[in-house]
Amino acid sequence: MFNKIIDALFFFNRTPQDHYSALKRNIIIIMLLITTLPLATMIIINYFQYKSHLRNQIIAPLFAMADKTRHSFDLFLDQRLAIIRFISTTYNFEDLSNEQNIKKVLISIKKEWSGFVDIGLINGQGDLVSYAGPYSLLGKNYSEQLSFQETQIKGHYISNVFLGFRKYPHIVMAVQHLTDDGQTWILRATIDTDFFDSLISSMGLPRQTDAFLINRDGILQTNSLYYGNTLEKCPLELPRVNFKSNSIEGIDDKNQAIFLVASPFSIASYILVIVWPQSVALQSWYALKTEMIIIFFISLAIIIFAVLKMTHVLITRIKTSDEHRENVLTELQHAQKLSSIGRLSAGVAHEINNPLAIINEKAGLMSDLIELSKDFNEKTKFIELTDAILNSVKRCKKITHRLLGFSKRIDIKIEPININHIIHEVLDFLEKDILYRKIEINLLLSESLASIHSDQGLIQQILVNLLTNAFAAVEEYGRVEIETHNLTDGRIILKISDNGCGIPKDVIKNIFDPFFTTKKEKGTGLGLSITYGIIKKLGGEISVSSKPGEGSVFSIELPDKPTELEVNNE
Ligand code: ADP
Repeated sequence: MFNKIIDALFFFNRTPQDHYSALKRNIIIIMLLITTLPLATMIIINYFQYKSHLRNQIIAPLFAMADKTRHSFDLFLDQRLAIIRFISTTYNFEDLSNEQNIKKVLISIKKEWSGFVDIGLINGQGDLVSYAGPYSLLGKNYSEQLSFQETQIKGHYISNVFLGFRKYPHIVMAVQHLTDDGQTWILRATIDTDFFDSLISSMGLPRQTDAFLINRDGILQTNSLYYGNTLEKCPLELPRVNFKSNSIEGIDDKNQAIFLVASPFSIASYILVIVWPQSVALQSWYALKTEMIIIFFISLAIIIFAVLKMTHVLITRIKTSDEHRENVLTELQHAQKLSSIGRLSAGVAHEINNPLAIINEKAGLMSDLIELSKDFNEKTKFIELTDAILNSVKRCKKITHRLLGFSKRIDIKIEPININHIIHEVLDFLEKDILYRKIEINLLLSESLASIHSDQGLIQQILVNLLTNAFAAVEEYGRVEIETHNLTDGRIILKISDNGCGIPKDVIKNIFDPFFTTKKEKGTGLGLSITYGIIKKLGGEISVSSKPGEGSVFSIELPDKPTELEVNNE
C-alpha cells in the first residue's frame, strides 16, 4: 500500500521526460511541507506563548499599581471618615450646635488633616443647625437628599464628586450619631478632591497611560487625560468588578486598542481605572514579533533555496542514471542480439555453404557443357540462365562469408598502431572505386596523432565498412572526409563524413542492427553491426549524426588501450 502511494507520487514506474517535472514538483511540495510545517507550527506556538506571557507581564504591574493606589484612596477616605466619627463621639449635639465650637473644630482638623472644606451639624429632621465653612448654608434642609437618607440607613455616607458653588470638585462625607435617649443627628463634612489628583499623579504611571476615578454609573470623578473631565460620562467599556480588580482588552472611543484595569474602592462607590494603549504597552512585543517574522522569512527563503537546489541536483542525477540505464540496456540488448545472431549465422552459413558449393559446381559444369555442345535452340538463353545461377551463388557465398566473419571468434592482436597509416592503406585498397566513382577524398589527419594500442586488421575492417557505406551514399563527384585528432586521456577520434543521401530519422535507429539494410539485394545489413561489435571489443564508442539530403558523420572514439575485459568479452 505504502509502496503504491510512493510509486503514484513519484511515478517510479514511468520515466518519460515530462514526468521528471511532475516528480520534481512533488518532491518540492513534500519537502517544503515537511520542512516548513514544523517551522510554521513552532513560530505560531511561540507567537501565542510569547504574546500571552508578555501580556501577563504587562498586566501584572498594572494590577499591582491599581491595587496599591486604590488602597491609598481607601485609606484617605477611611481616615477622613474616622475623624468625623471621632468628632461626633467626642462632642455632643449641644457642643457642636454652638457656632464657635464647630468653627474651632474645623480649624483644628484642617490643621492636622488636609482636604476638609467645611463641617456642618444636621439634626434628625434634616435641618442644618450649625455650620463652619466658606458657604452660607445655615437653615438648609437635607431631609430629601440622598446623603441624608443613606446616612440614616447605613450610619455613614460618602458622596460622588460634585461641583460646589465655586465649581470646584468636592465630596461629602457624613456620619450619623445616636444619643443615649435615642435621638439621631448627623455630622457632615465637605472635602476637596485635590488629594485624588495628587495621588494619581504620584502613581508613576508608564508613558501615555491614563488613570482616573469613575463612579459605578461610569461618571468621571477626576479629570482623565484622554477620556473627559470630571462629571462627564466615561466612554470606555469596563470589565465586571465587584470586590476585586479586573482587566479587559478592548478598543476605546478613538478606535485605539487598550489594556484597561479597573479596581473598585471598598469604602466608596468609586472605581480606579488605569488605561494603557496597547501600541505603547506592547512595543517590546511588536519588536519581538518583527524579529520573529524576519527570522521566519529568512528561514523560509533558506529552506526554499535548499529544497530547490537539492531537488534540482536529485532530479538531474535520477535523469542521468535513467539515461545511463537505458543506454546500458540498449547496448546489452544489441550485444545479445549480435551474439545470438552470430551463433545462428555460423550454423546457417556452414549448412548453406555445402549445398552452395554443389550448386556452384553443378552450374559451372552445366555452363561448360552448354558452351562445349553444338548450337541448339535456346543455347544462349541456357548460358544466360546458368550465368544467373552462378552469380546468385556468388552473392550467396559473399553473404555466407560475411556471416562467418560476423560469427567467428575474433583473435585480437593488440599492438601499437597509427590510425593515419591504416587510413592510407585502406584508401590504396579502395583506390579503384574512388577513381571510378570520381569521389573527392579530403584528409584532415592530425600530424601529431598519438599511436594507440589496437588491432590493425580490425581497424582496417572498420574503415573498409564505413568508407564503403560512405561511397555508396554519395553521388558521382561526391565528397568523403576523413578526420583524425587526439582527445584527452590518450584517446583518439576518427570521423568519416560524407555529403551523401543522409539517413532518415526512422532508419538511423536501426542501422546497427544485423541484417538491416536499405540497399535491397545490394546490401547485406551486416557492415555496421560488425563494425559496432569490433569497436566495442576495442573499447571504443561509435556515434552517428546525419541529415537526410546533406550527409552523415560517423564518429569513432578509440582508447589508448582496450581493457582485458573488453578484449576477452564474447
Ligand atoms: P549495408 O551497407 O549492407 O546495407 P550496413 O550495416 O553497412 O549494411 O548499413 C546499414 C544501413 O545503414 C545501410 O543500408 C544504409 O541505409 C545505412 N547507411 C550506412 N552508412 C550510411 C551512409 N554513410 N550514408 C547513408 N546511409 C548509410
